[in-house]
Amino acid sequence: MIKQIPSPHFTKGRINPIKIIIIHISTGSLTSLTNTFTNPASKVSSHYGVGFKGEKIQYVQDVNTAWHSGNPNKPTYPFKPGETPNSISIGIECEGTDLSKAPVAQINALSELVKSLCGKYNIPCDRAHIIGHSEVNSITRKNCPSPDLSILDKIVKLSQVTEEMVSVQIPKSKVEMVMKFMLQL
Ligand SMILES: [Zn+2]
Repeated sequence: MIKQIPSPHFTKGRINPIKIIIIHISTGSLTSLTNTFTNPASKVSSHYGVGFKGEKIQYVQDVNTAWHSGNPNKPTYPFKPGETPNSISIGIECEGTDLSKAPVAQINALSELVKSLCGKYNIPCDRAHIIGHSEVNSITRKNCPSPDLSILDKIVKLSQVTEEMVSVQIPKSKVEMVMKFMLQL
């Protein structure tokens, strides 16, 4: 279940198709994130927020352009002419200060969300398309979502695993067991 809390901060529509998912860390609680995104003065937003307990909130509709990533600053992601980070992405903010230290429930919820968005928008579920904010701004956002980006490899792997497991109908409790195991790898 995804709770809807609309943010007033977005550009209506999109100038480019959705190609990638950008993951962020909010550097605070889910409540303070929601307060920021709904504060008329903040001028920032993302499409989704994911909390420590696996809570999911949608702030901006996918068809609209959320304001989460600013301009590229020494990016490692290969932008094409006419592309900006926000124009080609779905933005997901995660509660906390370092995604590599996220609780299992949060990682599971994030992986499920990534999986469903990849399916919906035909985004390949790999590290070229599931990226961190630091990969579009390696200068002033180098720790967003974490100084340790191997957590994104795990999330990508978990998103692929859930897909395979759901397709062969393994009980959800077993899927969670395997996820917990994989997070320790
Ligand atoms: Zn960020």
